Amino acid sequence: MTRSPCLVPDTRPATEASFDQAAHQVLRDVFGYDAFRGQQLEIIRSLFEGRNAMVLMPTGGGKSLCYQIPALLRPGLTVVVSPLIALMRDQVEALQHNGVRAACLNSSLDPVMRRDIEQSALAGELDLLYVAPERLLTENMLGLLERSEIGLFAIDEAHCVSQWGHDFRPEYMKLDVLRQRFPQVPRIALTATADQRTREEIGRQLLPDGGETYVASFDRPNIHYRVGLKGNAREQLLTFIRERHTGHSGIVYCMSRKRTESTAEYLSSQGVPAVPYHAGLDNETRQHHQERFLHEEGLVVVATVAFGMGIDKPDVRFVAHLDLPKSIEAYYQETGRAGRDGEPAEAWMVYGLQDVYQVRQMLAQSGADEHQQKAERERLEALLAFCEATGCRRQVLLRYFGEEHDGGCGNCDNCLQPPKTWDATDSARKALSCVYRTGQRFGATHVTDVLMGRTNDRLSRLGHDQLSTFGIGTDLSKQTWHSVLRQLLAHGYLQSDPEGHGGLQLAPACRTLLKGEAGLSLREDILPAARKTSGTSTRRSAPPDVAGPEWEELRRFRKELADAEGVPPYIIFHDAT
Ligand code: ADP
Ligand code: MG
Repeated sequence: MTRSPCLVPDTRPATEASFDQAAHQVLRDVFGYDAFRGQQLEIIRSLFEGRNAMVLMPTGGGKSLCYQIPALLRPGLTVVVSPLIALMRDQVEALQHNGVRAACLNSSLDPVMRRDIEQSALAGELDLLYVAPERLLTENMLGLLERSEIGLFAIDEAHCVSQWGHDFRPEYMKLDVLRQRFPQVPRIALTATADQRTREEIGRQLLPDGGETYVASFDRPNIHYRVGLKGNAREQLLTFIRERHTGHSGIVYCMSRKRTESTAEYLSSQGVPAVPYHAGLDNETRQHHQERFLHEEGLVVVATVAFGMGIDKPDVRFVAHLDLPKSIEAYYQETGRAGRDGEPAEAWMVYGLQDVYQVRQMLAQSGADEHQQKAERERLEALLAFCEATGCRRQVLLRYFGEEHDGGCGNCDNCLQPPKTWDATDSARKALSCVYRTGQRFGATHVTDVLMGRTNDRLSRLGHDQLSTFGIGTDLSKQTWHSVLRQLLAHGYLQSDPEGHGGLQLAPACRTLLKGEAGLSLREDILPAARKTSGTSTRRSAPPDVAGPEWEELRRFRKELADAEGVPPYIIFHDAT
């Protein structure tokens, strides 16, 4: 720990002008920067004047200075709550390097060192003390702080308080004790997660006594967004890296631990240096892989969501998703690790129908209560809308964070190569009718078989009325029907069964479509392997299954049904001839 005296002038500023001057002086002399970024100065002023603050700023935006400078301007110790040891260590090292009296208390310290730091805090010899929440919450620590002079509490990664989020830390929910026991000390909560729900929760739990809220723009103009249809994901990834990122550092996110390992192995075997990272690896390996990623050039880490928070590597050139992330925030956070140096970087993702099922299934089996699941579903839906967007992706992403963007960013796949769309109204009605008629319990494969008039053994278990949509969709290819079903699911016309068995069900939104009150235009998928387009243009002749006596009987039956009373008007009957 540095024992050198604080570099900051002893005279704490009193007037507005002297505050401004002092803040700039610290910025320059201690941190070596010329100008404040965005709202940094306003935030610092508000804390300096003793008000609470909530700061929502994207990763790399410069949140740390918002409390580090007040720590040097305000009398007393600034206590920083931070969830990760690695994160604390890096920050403290950087501060000490700049001559700031900073230390951190964590479980990796031996008792002597710990006592040493505690004594410094008590004696007023420290400006910043970083503490993990579980340590801060001990009676021992709180007592120590009560005997010290505290100037400010900074709660970093404040979204950890949110149960809906992916970084939930139960200890964060107990931090209200700071308000109760140190009512005079201002608090700042900082996060790069900006959705409304998390924001409200941070406010309610960490700043119930109010404060200023500062929201920075969440746009990351140097990140290029791309979403493609999933084929052979690993090969697609390899092509992407070879074509655009040879020798670059990057992060590849996968859903399962096993997949991170097999993908890292595959990339390595193809000449792309890659290591896996997930919570199932032992500490040493994890640490080692992380260190390598930070210090080597051109290493790819294939990771689960366990990798990321606090990874401050400026030159990550790409973040790839082989599986759909759990929510749009998760996507934003994860892709936000690319291009922190401001240089061009890419967010690349492939996804398919199976991903939607998988995530929905995970939600269903997560053990979360109804309310929680609903919140998660909404976040997933926002992500799906992002995936299926036909317009500017940046606009969709930013709108989710409550920010208006006029579109046409010129730095996403849709802007650079506007996707083709086709009028899918009729096909959508057929698909929805088929889902309904077959009992709302089958997945996309079976529904497609029925639509295309392909028989299989499951079909023989269906009654006639359930087969009334058999063969009404011979005009489209299997791939196109999958595309239609995926987009209907993504746009919320279909939903998957709540038990997570993968069965498709009608969602309330489909009524207008089925009743003919609304039309639907869908994306034409670019098929990854053959790079052929699908859509209405891909027609196929009727398969042999639709001929023969059975088919005749079915047609007769379908006509009867159409003539009969009590048939819901929104179910269409198509005479396939
Ligand atoms: P965050 O916590 O919001 O992700 P950091 O506080 O770690 O971001 O800051 C990201 C980077 O930006 C750091 O390298 C930091 O030194 C730098 N930075 C922050 N504020 C400024 C500024 N006013 N001028 C120049 N660089 C800055
Ligand atoms: Mg930070």
